[in-house]
Amino acid sequence: MILVTGGAGFIGSNFVLDWLAHSDEPVLNLDALSYAGNLANLRSLQADARHVFVHGDIRDRALLDRMLAQHRPRAILHFAAESHVDRSIHSPDSFLGTNVQGTFTLLEAARDHWSGLPAAERECFRFLHVSTDEVFGSLGPADPPFREGDAYEPNSPYSASKAASDHLVRAWHHTYGLPVLTTHCSNNYGPFQFPEKLIPLMIVNALAGKPLPVYGDGLNVRDWLYVSDHCAALRTVLARGRMGESYNIGGWNEKTNLEIVRTVCALLDEMRPDAAGPRERLVTFVADRRGHDRRYAIDARKIERELGWRPAETFETGIRKTLRWYLAHPHWITQVQSGAYRDWVSTQYGAN
Ligand code: NAD
Repeated sequence: MILVTGGAGFIGSNFVLDWLAHSDEPVLNLDALSYAGNLANLRSLQADARHVFVHGDIRDRALLDRMLAQHRPRAILHFAAESHVDRSIHSPDSFLGTNVQGTFTLLEAARDHWSGLPAAERECFRFLHVSTDEVFGSLGPADPPFREGDAYEPNSPYSASKAASDHLVRAWHHTYGLPVLTTHCSNNYGPFQFPEKLIPLMIVNALAGKPLPVYGDGLNVRDWLYVSDHCAALRTVLARGRMGESYNIGGWNEKTNLEIVRTVCALLDEMRPDAAGPRERLVTFVADRRGHDRRYAIDARKIERELGWRPAETFETGIRKTLRWYLAHPHWITQVQSGAYRDWVSTQYGAN
């Protein structure tokens, strides 16, 4: 069995589905079901005994100890985080709480669990920490893409909290020998992404005929990776990554935000024409995000060379799949926007 934290979020739920599509090894899924966690993402696993869901917080040490003792997972994949930069600017507290304190608590529980395992199981155990390219800061237009050994220069409360968690993971390996792996991935997109992030926000607003807010001049650059490619990379790193190493994961797809928005508009116009005219008319430039990093780019040659992983999707194929998914799931969009899901969570589990 593997333990996944944050497995009801965007990437975590895609990972759980992807894992169980490739393996019969069960998944123990711990998620606090914050606004970003959504069990509807995992509805197809409702009757699948290979998926065990636990509603809880990674800061709850007693819960972690109970789960680890009962299920004895051979690996922990740590996705749980507060993940939205804008939210981190407005209220950084929860980012420190989950990303830093939460990762610390999980590392301590993992260390106790790992050190109590019989030698053969201890040898195989892995703690895979899912991190972001944002810890490396912002690149100039002519700078080479981020490499694994680059200095950390986080600029937002989100990236600073993720950088802190990376350092804790590194230290738990160096000091205690915990067998860790860390990945730094670029911007993901695909099914089940909460419509606060750029691509789903643009899709949802464009379909509703609402303004498409673009920060500043729209020329900030990000690398984009289709989420199933990220999931495949994580499976690869877990299986063959060298202990204590970090791996960059990226799609070699640098795009400005404006290019992304224009592409979404053009494809939606093609797939579902709008009688009012091309949706690009909805683009509205808004005041820039505070401290907005100008450019992220990922050099993914290490994982390609050492582990043989390569993205299966190009941006052109991945974005079409993404748009088709959102067009086919209007109910999912309504549900995450309506607050009815939050009401259901508090009925099921009590408020959190
Ligand atoms: P998300 O916000 O969609 O999901 C986070 C999940 O963690 C949610 O299900 C939430 O309920 C859960 N969670 C939050 N706090 C928790 C806590 N205290 N205890 C237990 N569960 C908790 O995030 P995502 O976009 O799926 O990102 C997942 C991971 O991947 C994060 O660590 C993020 O930093 C990293 N990452 C994301 C991207 C991206 O483009 N989205 C890129 C690179 C790395």
